[in-house]
Amino acid sequence: MDKEFQPVAQPHLWGNERIYLDEALESGWISSRGPFIERFEQAFAESIGVAHAISVTNCTNALHLALDALGIGPGDEVIVPDFTMIAPVFAVLYQRATPVPIDADETWNMDPDAVAVAITPRTRAILAVHTYGHPARIDRLREIADEHNLWLVEDAAEAHGGAVLGRAVGTFGDIACFSFYANKLITTGEGGMIITNCDELAKRIRWKRSMCFGSDEESRFTHESIGFNYRMTNLQAAIGLAQLENAAAALGSKLSIAQAYDAALGEIPGLTLPPRSTWAKNVFWVYGVLIQDEFGRSRVELQQELSSHKIETRRFFTPLHRQPVLRGNGSLVSFPNADLLCERGLYLPSFPCMCASVIQRVADAIRRARR
Ligand SMILES: *Cc1c(COP(=O)(O)O)cnc(C)c1O
Repeated sequence: MDKEFQPVAQPHLWGNERIYLDEALESGWISSRGPFIERFEQAFAESIGVAHAISVTNCTNALHLALDALGIGPGDEVIVPDFTMIAPVFAVLYQRATPVPIDADETWNMDPDAVAVAITPRTRAILAVHTYGHPARIDRLREIADEHNLWLVEDAAEAHGGAVLGRAVGTFGDIACFSFYANKLITTGEGGMIITNCDELAKRIRWKRSMCFGSDEESRFTHESIGFNYRMTNLQAAIGLAQLENAAAALGSKLSIAQAYDAALGEIPGLTLPPRSTWAKNVFWVYGVLIQDEFGRSRVELQQELSSHKIETRRFFTPLHRQPVLRGNGSLVSFPNADLLCERGLYLPSFPCMCASVIQRVADAIRRARR
């Protein structure tokens, strides 16, 4: 690859990935059975402080499995953020349920005050997404879910390692899902994890993950429900275990990158830096900024300018209310905050162990673009 080219994200391999992968290959366990699966699941559960971790093929399927295990189906409403990566919403649609979008608050996440208002007799669950590393107000969402007897599912794909009021993201929901795609905090190439403290849900999720096979030789090929093949392989788990051993280092690296960006960009007029809150630990999965009118150049112009300096950036998500795929699910509510994020947001290169000099290079290019 071009040495000058600066991608927005790239995976970092720490060393043990190759060793564990070799061990898995040597052992012959290359499919979805084998010792690394259990080792990775156990280590992951311990790292978050929950009873159960169940590995899966990816986070999209994790979310699908979570909603299926909770019995979410046609006619049910699931409350989701309007400003979100699309996977959690697809999971709702896979189940033929109805996503009910909620506008963003000042943390770029689902606004809990708007959630309370959106609940109807058909609401079954709140699917909270922690976007770009800053946790949603999940403690309040938990209270709302309890008050209205709703399930709470967390999509923690972008906030692995984050916390709200000192408590780990992923421990508030009845179920939480993580992604190990190549740009996430830890990666298995493709992969995901479901966590829960509920023994019964864990059992049901494991059963559904693997085709709803019967539990003994007699019943093995008798299927009581619709199952899925969402199993992670032992090879992926081997990589995941090595990645997990270095999760704290990866997180530390992301936090110092964010701090350095804050310092380098803080003085530039017309840039809104990512949110920080006293009650939350933002893990800065991406470092996103909003380009305000005061900046003097449009977002498109800035993006082109950075691109000409071989610096890759990415625009923020397109909100649900603007998604062609959801036309007809149309809501009459307006979503001014999600619109603003969609129109002004841009995120900059940031990944574990990214060279610190990149930050200055990006900041200089942004400053020059203003003139
Ligand atoms: C990455 C991501 C997903 C999807 O993860 P995959 O493992 O790629 O399926 C889901 N939700 C959010 C918020 C994400 O950022």
